Amino acid sequence: DGPVIIVGAGHAGFHVAAYLRQFGFKGRVSLINGETHPPYQRPPLSKAYINGPSVGPDSLLFRPENFYDEQSVELVQSHVVAIDRQHLKLLLASGASLDYGHLVLATGARNRLLDLPNANLPDVRYLRILDESESLRSVLPSRKRVVVIGAGFIGLEFATVARVKGLEVDVIELAPRVMARAVTAEVSNYFQARHREAGIRIHLGVHATSIEADGGKVTGVSLSDGRHLVADLVVVGVGVLPNIELAAEAGLPVASGVVVDEYLLTADPNVSAIGDCALFASSRFGGSLRLESVQNAMDHARCVAARLVGDRKPYDAQPWFWSDQGNSKLQIAGLITGYDQVVLRGDPARRAFSVFCYRDGKLVGIESVNRVADHMFGRRLLGSDRSLAPERAADESFDLKSALA
Ligand code: FAD
Repeated sequence: DGPVIIVGAGHAGFHVAAYLRQFGFKGRVSLINGETHPPYQRPPLSKAYINGPSVGPDSLLFRPENFYDEQSVELVQSHVVAIDRQHLKLLLASGASLDYGHLVLATGARNRLLDLPNANLPDVRYLRILDESESLRSVLPSRKRVVVIGAGFIGLEFATVARVKGLEVDVIELAPRVMARAVTAEVSNYFQARHREAGIRIHLGVHATSIEADGGKVTGVSLSDGRHLVADLVVVGVGVLPNIELAAEAGLPVASGVVVDEYLLTADPNVSAIGDCALFASSRFGGSLRLESVQNAMDHARCVAARLVGDRKPYDAQPWFWSDQGNSKLQIAGLITGYDQVVLRGDPARRAFSVFCYRDGKLVGIESVNRVADHMFGRRLLGSDRSLAPERAADESFDLKSALA
């Protein structure tokens, strides 16, 4: 039981420490936290937290602060600046060094920054860490018009909150539909309609060409089609970049993530990588994947912790995800890519439906809007490697549970 050091105390890193103790690991566990707050979860940052203000930062913590002492998890507030793989040592920004037996890289991802004139003004904001959510929520009451750049999950979650708080909201998106990378056209169309109904203006197929400002204050955003949108706040949600530099500088293979095998091990048997930063080999999906989700972070953490206590199994969990936008809860089971047939169950007009996605006749993923039972069914069915005939999925009189029997 040599010391395990985990770099990054986000969803993935924190849960390696928690699972190690849960699984009876007796050795030393150090969790290096590069942020100023105790380890916390991000999903509420664009949902309940920013909608506050009755919600305090403690509500975001994975565990109360005494957890670390009680579980003998050494929480080290610092940044790791280098890995010396030859001597199994980490170098911290404080100048201290730490010896590891096994190293887990859970360095996550950071915001992709907008590269435009005036993009560094204080009112061009991002939403990934607690301080960003906190300061956005404190300025919202004093702002009238926000332009959201990027119609991904986070941009749209923020847009719905801003609209409910009475701001004029414009969302601009380069793709021809919202959340295009992650959901079917059926789901994009449904959310576009709901957001437009709520008074959010969505501009598709355009990008920002500059941020306009006067005396250091944002006044608007110019678009690629020549239009100009008035704004006193800009929120950018154009995706993230995985934090791979530490691994790369230590000579570990990186691509669009830190490269790991099916066991989540890097090319170095003493170093694992998990969560948003990891590009992992998957025989289930045939190739390499990098996912950004709580499920992926938690299940990666569990897989690595289990391996470190002697239960070595390839990572093979089924992905799932959720996003809350206004009164619509989107849940996704499986991966919505490479499908060639979609089947609708329920009725978008009734604001509760699921989209079953098939490839070569086999179910690969289910998107559910306000249909929690369909989602839970999907997770169980996909997890059991069974399928469901498209005709049955479309037939509301067919009891889904019977497909699990
Ligand atoms: P991160 O959470 O990015 O944590 C990595 C940590 O490592 C960071 O604290 C970073 O500072 C630290 N770090 C990096 N380098 C170093 C270093 N050298 N030294 C020390 N520390 C370092 N997912 C869902 O499934 N559903 C949702 O509804 C959802 N909503 C979201 C809403 C928001 C606003 C955001 C930002 C994300 C959301 N996600 C959601 C995604 C989910 O939160 C991430 O997939 C998850 O947090 C990934 O966890 P991680 O630990 O891999 O990375």
